[in-house]
Amino acid sequence: MHTTHTELGINSIAELVKQQRVFFKTNATKSIDFRVTQLKALKSSITQYEVQMLAALHQDLGKSDAEAFLTEIAITKQEIDNALKHLKKWTAPQRVKTPLQLQPAQSYRIAEPYGVVLVVAPWNYPIQLALLPIVGVIAAGNTVVLKPSEVASASSKVLKEMLVNTFEENFVAVVEGGIEEAKALMSERFDYIFFTGSTHVGQIYYQAAAKHLTPVTLELGGKSPCIVEADANLKKTAERIIFGKYLNCGQTCIAPDYLLVNQKVKKELIAELKNAVEKMYTQNSATCEWYPRIINEHHFNRLIALIEPEKVIYGGTFDQSKLYIAPTFMDNVAKEDAVMREEIFGPILPIITVDNVTEAIDFINEGEKPLALYIFSKSQQIINQVFEATSFGSACVNDTIIQISNKNLPFGGVGKSGIGSYHGRYSFETFSHYKSIMKQASFEPTSRFRFAPWNYKLLRQIFKYL
Ligand code: NAD
Repeated sequence: MHTTHTELGINSIAELVKQQRVFFKTNATKSIDFRVTQLKALKSSITQYEVQMLAALHQDLGKSDAEAFLTEIAITKQEIDNALKHLKKWTAPQRVKTPLQLQPAQSYRIAEPYGVVLVVAPWNYPIQLALLPIVGVIAAGNTVVLKPSEVASASSKVLKEMLVNTFEENFVAVVEGGIEEAKALMSERFDYIFFTGSTHVGQIYYQAAAKHLTPVTLELGGKSPCIVEADANLKKTAERIIFGKYLNCGQTCIAPDYLLVNQKVKKELIAELKNAVEKMYTQNSATCEWYPRIINEHHFNRLIALIEPEKVIYGGTFDQSKLYIAPTFMDNVAKEDAVMREEIFGPILPIITVDNVTEAIDFINEGEKPLALYIFSKSQQIINQVFEATSFGSACVNDTIIQISNKNLPFGGVGKSGIGSYHGRYSFETFSHYKSIMKQASFEPTSRFRFAPWNYKLLRQIFKYL
């Protein structure tokens, strides 16, 4: 039996899920007042635990307070504020049009919570990627069991402490642990599963969900390409690529994984990329307070094995005792190289040379559909050409990563980079089932056409005009 030690004395995962379902069925989570109170409680707990969370993020990933605040704390609080601001509108029944032949009936959609939700989080943004979905879960009126990643153990511990001290466990619960605990969770019946992590593990959750036809959101990974066309402003391009690549030391799901650079500007771009690294992380990133570390030895060794020394044109140094890998550029990289056969998820930047944008498009389309795509160009025609020919979760033109911070853009992948999306209003929609309702009027002019005995000829005539 998988035991948990909780305030409620709930001592197994099965019992926890059962208690949450009992609580959900009381309808307490559906009241708007309840949702508002809980969202406010979450926000004030984040403020209360901010120092501990920043310390945990430093311990797990060597993130500076500034970076951790920007990418984990501030973004989560903004999500809560946005939900609080719009909750009334989101929860209101939505009128939809009723076609002429059905009038004067009325039609609308009502959002209802699914019930008991499982949220599984990864280690790379361990606070943000655990709490952001929970904001949507609460806003939509569900209960939630969170499984943080055991790999970011300090963050997992703080999350557990904060959430246990903020919520009753039959509403928001945390199950810490690794595969064993995850398996125990997967054997339970949830009403929704929201998973963020690797494609391979996402498939395991998808299979577990299929058993009960549980709906899922899968926020997965992949290799996100970054095209640099010959007409791009190279200084700005370099700064924005380095920002996106080296945030969290490359351990970002939407980091530009590799570059597809027009050969005409490759030399100049590489010079600017070096300048940008040194401007942001100094000439010695090993001693720079803004430069994070690799999460653990397993990933450190995996990354080191991807570096082919003869292809390194910048960086390439590392220190295992500190889990440090320098910003590393590799040139003349081929599709068959190890670094191009998996999602890098670290500070290695492969550079692939192309003659034109068509070649870049063909390269991308030979792989899986990416989570993100980046294109640097001044030409709207080239940008359109790329967007028409490729499929991806989200894109940013002339920048990287920041598309994720616009709450009005849904965030998610496609194909092997994911199923579904969230953020802002889209989170509320993700964790809501919409009931479609039509209210018939007592006077219905068309009833004589739809009830037998039918006039088949007349019926066909009428449908010609509908
Ligand atoms: P992961 O798939 O290894 O782990 C994610 C979660 O699943 C963790 O909580 C882990 O404990 C659990 N897990 C791992 N193996 C399991 C198994 N066999 N059975 C059941 N549960 C299991 O992913 P990760 O290494 O934590 O994160 C990195 C990956 O996540 C990258 O591929 C990255 O691109 C992706 N990611 C995607 C997004 C996104 O929003 N799309 C965000 C961050 C990370």
